[in-house]
Amino acid sequence: MKLYQPGDTSNAICPDCGKLVSTTFAYRDVPFDDGTGVVKGILAAVCDECEAVVSIPAQSTPAIRRAREAADIPLEVSIPAPEIEIIDAAAYRIDPDATTRLRKSLFAFYLQRLRHDESAAGMLRREFETWNAAKIEQRNRVGKAVRIPQRRLSFKISPKTDRDVQWLMKAIGMNKTDTVRSVIMEIERDLLAPKAPNGLRHLQDIAAVVNA
Ligand SMILES: [Zn+2]
Repeated sequence: MKLYQPGDTSNAICPDCGKLVSTTFAYRDVPFDDGTGVVKGILAAVCDECEAVVSIPAQSTPAIRRAREAADIPLEVSIPAPEIEIIDAAAYRIDPDATTRLRKSLFAFYLQRLRHDESAAGMLRREFETWNAAKIEQRNRVGKAVRIPQRRLSFKISPKTDRDVQWLMKAIGMNKTDTVRSVIMEIERDLLAPKAPNGLRHLQDIAAVVNA
């Protein structure tokens, strides 16, 4: 790989000028292709005639990747308080010293697992509806006096996890809130319901990294 230095010159087609132009390498702020953010100060080939960024050398790719990873996206939903307790209890079961960061990792882990298991994702909606109906019935049984408060679940997620959320919403045809709740249902079934959860050891290894 050739490493360019600022001030190096080259030739490229400038889309703005519509012709072959000479270019000079310089540090520039470059917007992401999808317009969701800007990479600050990366080396780019700049058109000598109109100053447009014409191309980006391979050596700038890691800086672009880091900037993308830093462009976290808020995920905020309001869900019944007992479901926040599920995710907290699951995090506690993995690591009693778990930080709130583990909540997010746990969510991302189960989301990722559904992403890679289309048959599980396919059954998710019906299972969620059954699960939710059982919760409502249980609430009705204890009576109206027991009011279940809503709590806000708020994460900053990577663009990749956000794409997984969008994918799952589309795959199961549910809104964001119920999609998040169905992932929480998965966490309950996998980590809280069994006496000795299968993946516990693996998740404890993940927690050790997350909490480092
Ligand atoms: Zn130009």
